[in-house]
Amino acid sequence: MIQLEGVTALKCLKVLKRLKDAGYEAYIVGGAVRDLLLDLPVSDFDIASSAHPNEVMKLFKKVIPTGVKHGTVTVVFEDEPFEVTTFRSEKKYDDFRHPSEVQFLSHIDDDLARRDFTINSMALSGNGEIVDPFQGRGDLKKGLIRTVGHADERFTEDPLRMVRALRFLSVFSFQFEEETIQAIKKHASLLSHIAVERVATEFTKLLAGAAVERALKLIVETGVYSYLPGLDEMKSYLERGMKVSLLETDEERWAWLAFEVEDPVLFLKKWRLSNDVIKKVQKILSVSKKVQRVGWNRETVYFARPLDKESERVLAVVHDRKPTYEHIDLIASALPISSSDMLAVTGEDLLAWTGQKPGPWVGESLMRIEQAVLKEEVTNEKSSIKRWLEHWQTQ
Ligand code: ATP
Ligand code: MG
Repeated sequence: MIQLEGVTALKCLKVLKRLKDAGYEAYIVGGAVRDLLLDLPVSDFDIASSAHPNEVMKLFKKVIPTGVKHGTVTVVFEDEPFEVTTFRSEKKYDDFRHPSEVQFLSHIDDDLARRDFTINSMALSGNGEIVDPFQGRGDLKKGLIRTVGHADERFTEDPLRMVRALRFLSVFSFQFEEETIQAIKKHASLLSHIAVERVATEFTKLLAGAAVERALKLIVETGVYSYLPGLDEMKSYLERGMKVSLLETDEERWAWLAFEVEDPVLFLKKWRLSNDVIKKVQKILSVSKKVQRVGWNRETVYFARPLDKESERVLAVVHDRKPTYEHIDLIASALPISSSDMLAVTGEDLLAWTGQKPGPWVGESLMRIEQAVLKEEVTNEKSSIKRWLEHWQTQ
């Protein structure tokens, strides 16, 4: 028996109850049940029910038809979204993308059978009873990632499951059975058929796992690396056994991965990462490479902000040392300005002082002033800067 607590969990129970009261079966399923049993915070409460999408829509005021064809609608209940999916099976996979046919079913056990791993194939009823036809609970206790049914079949059906398996191993510090390792070795090449975005979502989570070092080792050992964007050329880098788990953000982890790649932007684009992420990763890379050459000094600390700690961690992992922040903080605390916003003069000032027309010279002058203030060649005060400029212009 599991006792649910928390505002979202209680709302979810009310959704289950309404479905039950209308004569349907309804359970919390998948990741939520697994995380509850592991005593981890639950990110989403997904519901599986014998009710069909049109029947669910009749029972709740606000329902978004997110994926009716596949049996999924999103019920917004007391301002919180819950995905409700009709019990279903997935048959025939079109070129490894989406099941081409789904069949609605009336029993929870049949729905659980289509799921990927035993630990993800449990259901929890509103009464706190667990439905666990594949001994997921036992595997959770043993720390085992095991497919529902034969690994060979399940990985050919949807090759993304191989990366998901490695993701769960990494995140929960679990193990594989020998059969799983052999099946991944055998079917790794099928990963080239999978949409990169789906792989990237799983791989980003894998990199953030506590056992990422072990997962990366397995990625090399099973040959999976050969079928992931850009990693085919990085075998020896991945084998170096660096302490990737020291990294704290997704951007640091991607920067670490792209560190020795010739064209990091191309590499990150191959993974279809968002422009926002790519920009941050680029900055971390340019800082850490500069620091690798010249060390942390006024200029690098200033230029690094606000990604100084991130860059230091990436560099530390690449060089297999511990990150140290004291030195950076010391330099930072002595900087005359921490960003260009803090300059005592603006472009307007420059225009007024010189009487010249606006143009690229304004930005260039501001940059020169910024450098001079940073090096303490001039103090960050309007009058001092004006004098310094006049002096500089007469040179
Ligand atoms: P997370 O906590 O990271 O969301 P999760 O287990 O909930 O982990 P989701 O991707 O949200 O993962 O999937 C929800 C559930 O759907 C899984 O627990 C599993 O039962 C099922 N599932 C997801 N992807 C697959 C797949 N490729 N093949 C079979 N079942 C899957
Ligand atoms: Mg989930």
